[in-house]
Amino acid sequence: PFRALVARRQEKGHAVEPTGLKMADLPPGNVTIRVTHSSLNYKDGLALQGRPGILKTFPIVPGIDLAGEVVDGSGEGFGPGDQVVVTGWGIGENTSGGYAEYARVQSEWVEPLPAGTDSAWAMAVGTAGFTAMLAVLALERHTFYGADLGGPILVTGATGGVGSTAVALLAAAGHEVHASTGKLDQADYLRELGAAEVLPREEISELNRPLESERWAAAIDTVGGSTLAGIMAATRRQGAVAVCGLAGSAELTATVFPLILRGVSLLGIDSVACPRPLRREAWARLARDLPIERLAPMTQTYTLDDLPGLSRRILAGELRGRSVIRVAPD
Ligand code: NAP
Repeated sequence: PFRALVARRQEKGHAVEPTGLKMADLPPGNVTIRVTHSSLNYKDGLALQGRPGILKTFPIVPGIDLAGEVVDGSGEGFGPGDQVVVTGWGIGENTSGGYAEYARVQSEWVEPLPAGTDSAWAMAVGTAGFTAMLAVLALERHTFYGADLGGPILVTGATGGVGSTAVALLAAAGHEVHASTGKLDQADYLRELGAAEVLPREEISELNRPLESERWAAAIDTVGGSTLAGIMAATRRQGAVAVCGLAGSAELTATVFPLILRGVSLLGIDSVACPRPLRREAWARLARDLPIERLAPMTQTYTLDDLPGLSRRILAGELRGRSVIRVAPD
């Protein structure tokens, strides 16, 4: 048997426990991967802490990210022995994911690792970094017809996984980054990642007029709720907001004025069913702009045994940056 965390249904909700699994316990799929690394995202925190809504079938191995070596099967650009990454597509939600030494998935979900990278790098990026990259690419597409991103770009929830990687990616692309955080004691960390300015989170969530003075050329928001409403009101004419998350709230109460009087656009970001051509582009750009040295200040490495405690801490907003989970020796 190989090591895994398995979530099983209980009378009320579900519980996650270490379990030995056999290959026959894995879900159907045409590619088998020996998982060396996974990661912890906000969604994983919810699943591991027994919250409803993420895990849709039982028993299941949680973990929405995995990277490792193909042991059986092949697909576009990869075969046995190759290092690959899988994020989203429902792994760790509808079908077993990364918190086990082996995973079985569909070949269409598998991406070969960009040249010069490895599984530890891919999981330091993980769904969070991939999502931040999709947000940056969405903002760049927005400039196609001349919208100007030359001005400060705001990142909210900046010390989180999506936030930290978004700050680093925007800085790497030459933007002036303003980082909003509830952890002002982490200002030096955010500056090290490339933030030019660090703002307290309330400065944005308390903006409550339909139109505020124009402050940011664009934003990457991971918080939602009154924070997103405040950002919309303070985004410059023809600017755009990449909407990624709900760390604060899933509600959005706002007026349409920023959209119809200033041409502000809301750009929705979904990392789970992101189409493959965009996925490839995002991973290639991540390899260029977020090399392991840039990820180092925001990355901690743990093991499967650490996940119960870590999942509590990510939901409490106590973790910083990215948490890589070492599943098996490379
Ligand atoms: P994370 O590492 O836990 O980061 C979330 C950050 O948000 C925290 O570090 C904190 O940053 C801030 N925050 C936490 N609670 C807050 C509150 N009550 N009010 C305001 N800010 C709060 O999580 P993550 O993995 O980066 O994910 C961030 C969000 O994006 C989550 O909602 C997640 O579900 C979503 N997400 C979406 C996609 C997608 O495909 N759209 C993909 C990945 C993640 P500060 O202390 O610095 O403020």
